[in-house]
Amino acid sequence: MSYRGRFAPSPTGPLHFGSLVAAVGSWLRARSQDGAWLIRMEDLDPQREVPGAAQDILATLAAFGMQSDEPVVWQSRRAKAYDEAFARLRERVFACWCSRSDLATADGMHRGACVAAADAARAPAWRLRVDDRDIGFVDLLQGEYVQNLLRDVGDFVVRRVEGGYAYQLAVVVDDAEAGITEVVRGVDLLDSTPRQIRLQQLLAVPTPGYLHLPLVLDRTGAKLSKSEGAPAVDRDDPLPALRAALDFLGLGDAARTSAPNPRALLVAAVQHFDLAALRKQSGRFPALD
Ligand code: GLU
Repeated sequence: MSYRGRFAPSPTGPLHFGSLVAAVGSWLRARSQDGAWLIRMEDLDPQREVPGAAQDILATLAAFGMQSDEPVVWQSRRAKAYDEAFARLRERVFACWCSRSDLATADGMHRGACVAAADAARAPAWRLRVDDRDIGFVDLLQGEYVQNLLRDVGDFVVRRVEGGYAYQLAVVVDDAEAGITEVVRGVDLLDSTPRQIRLQQLLAVPTPGYLHLPLVLDRTGAKLSKSEGAPAVDRDDPLPALRAALDFLGLGDAARTSAPNPRALLVAAVQHFDLAALRKQSGRFPALD
């Protein structure tokens, strides 16, 4: 089966150095496998979306030499596919009116019975009932990872109170439909993966491989984040940030290769791409401080 990878930004702000690292990592991994690299815009939550951010991210990725091999998929246009998946989960989902404070005594987790009563006056969230069993996988970079969804996560939301579908459901439906064979993304999503594997099992779609890349942290140890206003990478002068991203990933030789433009540097970097050399641990990037 030929490799199909993807990069799936949320349009909550401009592309910053941390998301550039994830994009470059997934692009190089796909090309090192002679695979396709696709972009999916995760514009699922209008409340978190920043107007113009989606186009800005696409233009920035293009300036860094990365374009989707197929038309960009927009989650905002895929409600029908999510409706269908949701209908197939009917036996496993339930309406839930529990608030955060209702669940506070259970570490914020929902396990089994609801605390709050049904309330016809308010819209519910819809949760997936989870089981008391381990779900594990071997991440190509981070190694083995196991969760017991009942103990570690609880019954999780697949459809939000506002009516939109949750990331966990949409990502599974979209990765399956796009035929993604391997997911390369930031390690902040490592602990979402067992939930996604469970949904793949219930929807009877394949489980892709996973490779979770280290995160770029700021001075306070927090992840650089679009919604927290991390600075945008400079689309007008992409080579320095691209070299820095390669360096951060552990691909120093690639970073030092001379190249006239970002695309040429990326193509050259494919030769240096080596799973064994990739950095595993999240951390700061001194040049940003
Ligand atoms: N949209 C997510 C983000 O921007 C990534 C989701 C994924 O790669 O599965 O962090």
